[in-house]
Amino acid sequence: MQKCEKCGENTSNGYDCEHTKFEEYCKECYTELHYYITEKKDNE
Ligand SMILES: [Zn+2]
Ligand SMILES: [Zn+2]
Repeated sequence: MQKCEKCGENTSNGYDCEHTKFEEYCKECYTELHYYITEKKDNE
């Protein structure tokens, strides 16, 4: 079982990329992170 580095919840599927500094995030935190990144890009 992996643990989300952001919210600390156990997650069966961890997600990581350069935006999470390659730490495992749960799906909710990973999606939320990319939602903000996308929003920011759209506003610039
Ligand atoms: Zn999380
Ligand atoms: Zn990413």
